[in-house]
Amino acid sequence: RPGRPVIMKVIAMHNFTLHTPTKVLFGKGQVAQLREQLPSDARILITYGGGSVVRSGLLAQIKQDLAGMSLFEFGGIEPNPTYETLMGAVELARAEKIDFLLAVGGGSVLDGTKFIAAAAHYDLAKDPWHILETVGGDVASAIPLGAVLTLPATGSEMNMGAVITRKSSGDKQHFFSPFVMPRFAVLDPVLTYTLPARQVANGVVDAFIHTLEQYLTYPVNAKVQDRFAEGLLQTLAEEGPKALVEPENYDVRANIMWSATMALNGLIGAGVPQDWATHMLGHEITALHGLDHAQTLAVVLPALLQAKRAQKHAKLLQYAERVWDLRSGSEEERIDGAIAATRDFFERMGIKTRLRDYGLADANIDTLVAKLAEHGMTSLGEHGDIDLAQSRHIYEAAW
Ligand code: NAP
Ligand code: FE
Repeated sequence: RPGRPVIMKVIAMHNFTLHTPTKVLFGKGQVAQLREQLPSDARILITYGGGSVVRSGLLAQIKQDLAGMSLFEFGGIEPNPTYETLMGAVELARAEKIDFLLAVGGGSVLDGTKFIAAAAHYDLAKDPWHILETVGGDVASAIPLGAVLTLPATGSEMNMGAVITRKSSGDKQHFFSPFVMPRFAVLDPVLTYTLPARQVANGVVDAFIHTLEQYLTYPVNAKVQDRFAEGLLQTLAEEGPKALVEPENYDVRANIMWSATMALNGLIGAGVPQDWATHMLGHEITALHGLDHAQTLAVVLPALLQAKRAQKHAKLLQYAERVWDLRSGSEEERIDGAIAATRDFFERMGIKTRLRDYGLADANIDTLVAKLAEHGMTSLGEHGDIDLAQSRHIYEAAW
């Protein structure tokens, strides 16, 4: 009625259970604490990637610090870790009766190690790829694991998720299990000084988009989660570009590293709706076209925000105002401004935001959509309303 204020009913925060038992050892020199975190009589398998930890001397330092313990090694876990490679480690872990896994590297090494941990204990009669097909639902135990992180991005160091690729079939899928939650995570910002610019950018953009997947949905009355999320977004937007020009600035690296962990350790996602469609569409692009994980997200997200701007209207306005300080103009203009500022931030980090920028002759959108269907990704987003037709539209807009 005229003269009466419109009262918008905002839904209450959902109930939640938050259990994040990972012990975090944060800061310069914290690798020195490693020995005390490990069971002294364990048979420990150290896992790592393509050699960055060999070149930096980190692996040698760890082996020296752990001298006298029963150590085994498995290197060569690639970015977007593959089932094919990881099964070699599963065999080794079973044959050597490994009882602790120590992952040293980025998200790929951590995710790969989570798969090794679950697969080594998995029913011998079943192919461990089934863990991905059941999204981790039938994982009943795993080898305990800990991590020394060298690339802030995924949050894998403090969550129960992992993303694994099967090369032979072109599948990139995820699983969750509380059994693969790291027991501890060493986060030393100094270890990130050697990252190439492309990986710095990938990490910042991945963490930024993890935050948006849990924030940019529809309003619920969750002021703490919202303000934590906005703090992470502001920090990543401020510090990300600085890390590119001052790679050895400890304060910049420390703020980025802690932001990336906090972005996906359950805290900001507790009790609020979550989207994750950008990640699901992005995984198919990496599996088919080989783009880096964060590149796929930077391509999909702006197209998705345009497609879902009506459903995300209220939170887009809040994001525009609180993260990008956009307070003038019409509501639609502020939303346009926020989407443009987001795209511009990714571009300033050096990440292209259109699929056609990645030197592909064409995007095979039919195959991408067919893979989404095969993986059951037919009702995505916080409302479950992104069907295959809308995913196709988002891929086309992302091109
Ligand atoms: P990454 O794939 O682990 O690493 C990318 C590259 O950075 C590798 O070539 C690696 O070299 C190098 N690198 C790592 N640390 C370095 C350092 N300190 N100095 C120099 N080079 C270094 O990258 P990521 O972004 O952390 O992980 C991406 C994967 O995580 C994707 O598969 C993605 O789907 C997944 N992901 C998981 C979650 C989750 O919650 N679990 C969330 C989002 C994404 P080396 O191999 O030689 O070490
Ligand atoms: Fe991610």
